[in-house]
Amino acid sequence: MPETKQPLCICYGMGVDSTALLVGLATMGIRPDLITFADTGGEKPDTYLYAPIMQEWLRDQGFPPITVCRYVPPIAKYRTLLGNCIQNETIPSLAFGRKACSLKWKRDAQEPLRRRLPENVRAWSEGLKVRKAIGFDASETRRTYAGVGNEVDEYDYWYPLQDWGWDRKMCERQIWAAGLPVPVKSACFFCPAMKKPEIKDLAERHPDLHQIALDMEQGYRTGKHWRGDEASTKGLGRRFAWGDLVDDGTGDE
Ligand code: SF4
Repeated sequence: MPETKQPLCICYGMGVDSTALLVGLATMGIRPDLITFADTGGEKPDTYLYAPIMQEWLRDQGFPPITVCRYVPPIAKYRTLLGNCIQNETIPSLAFGRKACSLKWKRDAQEPLRRRLPENVRAWSEGLKVRKAIGFDASETRRTYAGVGNEVDEYDYWYPLQDWGWDRKMCERQIWAAGLPVPVKSACFFCPAMKKPEIKDLAERHPDLHQIALDMEQGYRTGKHWRGDEASTKGLGRRFAWGDLVDDGTGDE
């Protein structure tokens, strides 16, 4: 009976690092068993446009297609992170220094697919761990993910870009060399981690989405969680509200 090989799952974010990770695997002839992308329902338009380009490229490599997944709440009626925030009169938890938005809408959204993959089921039944590749690049600080709960027993985490020494610039070069356009930074269009120039760019290129983000923020600032001017989280910018930025997007008066 052939020995069970350790399955390889890719958490694909559709940004530069994880795209470079797939390029590197293709170059080295390492075929993943599963590629998942968690769609919060609020990804940037450029990210949605990149998906078919990547699907075609993956097909040409003989890789499995991207399986798009989305977190489905057990009771609540919303189906997106945006809907989640609007219904609860809040903004993504990153604005409060927590990571619940990405844990729920990114990590938890992908887990059911991994649990159903026959290769994973077989590996776990034989006491093997599943390998999960994460696209953290080789910046000066070595970034890792510790895993929580059962993840520690069920998964081995692999950071190929760090092993290969690929920093951000190298990732971009490798993506070009593979014949792919370099994707935009992947994130929700209302992500509290966005810098002021990125907010300005959103307002210029996608005023409709910028307005939706402002409306979400206003819902928080007039809703049940708002603690008045003493609140440490002023809005989507955490210490500032996106709605308070002056027209040039810098926030400077
Ligand atoms: S991109 Fe930002 S807002 Fe969206 S899930 Fe991740 S941390 Fe939360």
